[in-house]
Amino acid sequence: MNKKAILVLIILLSISSFSQDKLIEQKVENLLKQMTLEEKIGQLNQYTGDGGATGPVTINPNKQAEIKQGLIGSMLNVMGVQHTRQYQELAMQSRLKIPLLFGLDVVHGYKTTFPLPLAEAASWDLEAIEKSARIAAIEASANGIHWTFAPMVDIGRDPRWGRVMEGAGEDTYLGSKIAFARVKGFQGKKLGDLDAVMACSKHFAAYGAAVGGRDYNSVDMSERMLWETYLPPFKATVDAGVATFMNSFNDLNGIPATGNAYLQRDILKGKWNFKGFVVSDWGSIGEMIAHGYAKNGKEAAFSAITAGSDMDMESNAYRYNLAALVNEGKVDIALVDDAVRRILYKKFELGLFDDPYCFSNAERQKKALNNPEHTKFAREIAAKSIVLLKNENNLLPLSKQIKTIAFIGPAVKPARGNHGFWSIDVKEVDSTYIISQWKGLENKVGKNTKLLYARGCGFEDNSKAGFDEAIAIAKQADVVILTIGERWDMSGEAKSRSNIQLPGVQEDLVKAIHTTGKPMVVLINAGRPLVFDWTADNVPTILYTWWLGSEAGNAIADVLFGDYNPSAKLPMTFPRSEGQIPIYYNYFNTGRPSKEENHTNYVSAYIDLKNSPKFPFGYGLSYTTFEYSNLQLSSSKIKESEKITLSFQLKNSGKVAGEEVVQLYIQDKFASVVRPVKELKDFQKIKLQPNETKTITFIIDKEKLSFYNQKLDWITEPGEFEVMIGTSSADIRLNQLFELIN
Ligand code: BGC
Repeated sequence: MNKKAILVLIILLSISSFSQDKLIEQKVENLLKQMTLEEKIGQLNQYTGDGGATGPVTINPNKQAEIKQGLIGSMLNVMGVQHTRQYQELAMQSRLKIPLLFGLDVVHGYKTTFPLPLAEAASWDLEAIEKSARIAAIEASANGIHWTFAPMVDIGRDPRWGRVMEGAGEDTYLGSKIAFARVKGFQGKKLGDLDAVMACSKHFAAYGAAVGGRDYNSVDMSERMLWETYLPPFKATVDAGVATFMNSFNDLNGIPATGNAYLQRDILKGKWNFKGFVVSDWGSIGEMIAHGYAKNGKEAAFSAITAGSDMDMESNAYRYNLAALVNEGKVDIALVDDAVRRILYKKFELGLFDDPYCFSNAERQKKALNNPEHTKFAREIAAKSIVLLKNENNLLPLSKQIKTIAFIGPAVKPARGNHGFWSIDVKEVDSTYIISQWKGLENKVGKNTKLLYARGCGFEDNSKAGFDEAIAIAKQADVVILTIGERWDMSGEAKSRSNIQLPGVQEDLVKAIHTTGKPMVVLINAGRPLVFDWTADNVPTILYTWWLGSEAGNAIADVLFGDYNPSAKLPMTFPRSEGQIPIYYNYFNTGRPSKEENHTNYVSAYIDLKNSPKFPFGYGLSYTTFEYSNLQLSSSKIKESEKITLSFQLKNSGKVAGEEVVQLYIQDKFASVVRPVKELKDFQKIKLQPNETKTITFIIDKEKLSFYNQKLDWITEPGEFEVMIGTSSADIRLNQLFELIN
């Protein structure tokens, strides 16, 4: 196609989407005019259903009546073709036949379960991350789901906070890219396609910065930190066209996020021009009473609607108070209308008015839940998420000729646990499709390899009764694989931990097996960075295996035996001890920077602990090695309007093919506000055959050099910058200075 034809096509497409918007707006207005105040408020109410019930459900008679009266706009936790139909049939008996929206936490897969979002982030593979959300949407939408409460895009710098498992880690740049990819994946080509679900950017905002890492806790944060670190991933989801936002349980600088007009009206709906709707978090409107911000449900409803919360999840605050607030003239009906418009718009956009049952299709459900491509991809992305932390004596990859392997640990045999927190128990299928670690190993090795199993201990046991059996099989084996870590439900919502070490006697089990002198691989399952100092210092071979989903066992075996060469890099800093938290790579220097190994009391360091982390952000090994050389900048001085092309050579200097995540960091050396020691500004994941060399290029533009000045304007300042190319945030291989000039 020539340029002119492309231009005409673009114009035609934009006219058609413009007129589509106008058409929906018209339909929304027509409907709104027919609605009573009660029916309008009904659209703002969301209630929970029956979870993953099997068979026809008996819907509570009061709920039935309310739906038929048009007093409920959305249900969460109703899933499956049968149940969504059952509910929708009730809505179709209401006066205006406004369809219900079905929302569910489809966080890392529906039936086919992918690694925890934090684990997936370790892949630094945006295409794969988008695809996993795509598959989740295909499966969920075929089961009647219109809307997922994902992605969670909260930055997490505190591994005590159990919900770090649900995000993309500590970094704003990586987090924003992943947030964008996940929204694109869930929403597909466009809403209205039957395989697209609405995404929900959450939790707005700063939920991850809870004081002490305690879930739901207060957040006290400077404006600079908010804009620079915590808001960009949310903005990225708006740029990706996210349909909905969820607000948050926490207060931000004294104002609950749910009642926070600055966040929801000024920033989200104002500055960012977000056109979708905001749902409260579960009960968070009502919880403003416990916060001491609202005296009762009426005040809570007033705060929430005024601040821009459109839909009330499970508080009943709108249901019982909004009509009175409008009738008494305390809440302008225009606010209610605005919220209703936003919700109705999405229902039209999804096509629910044309066919309220279009998502609940048994044929599609059957196909989506039995797609071998989904399983194959789950295995691939799980392998891509495994981080090789240590391989000092090159024990890995294991040979398939090993005669006897002892596989020990509490996570080896259970299958369901591999799904991790926020996974969906799909009742239409039995759970035999989940590949346990044991099954994965069995699938991998041939008949000549003998596999021995011992549990060793439970996750939280204080008893060492199982140690003898574990030691005995270790002694019979040529290689021991020992899986330790957190039980799957120890990271997640309301799962904050003050002690993030290996629970129970697991580290003692590592020590006991270590004394046998047998070659040993330790696998660590967890939803967050853990502290495992003894193991990290004494065991030469360690893989971080998170919770990897339905193909966990196969993926782990692929990595153990070298059928996949690990390429993942940590998306969060691993502390040496909890006392270092919060710890992250992009900190500010003090006036007395730590000299690390030989620090004195005069520097900003602990007298009893190094400042450096155990494993840094961006760290992860491969079975091959990479050499970085020949950094070139197209210019050493640029103006704001110009760009620098940076290039260097990356060589696979080892014996097997592998992928490297090359990371570009920049430091603004001197500025009118203190700048971090380095900030991730770009990355690429590069695959190389042995001995292959590629020239890698990055473009440095104004955006990569900008920051918020003292007035919080997004600007650049002339001066010196350092560009750093690293294989992790702590292992910079190439660096150079350049200058930004007027
Ligand atoms: C969580 C949300 C979730 C909601 C519905 C809340 O407790 O904070 O992230 O979407 O429950 O399950």
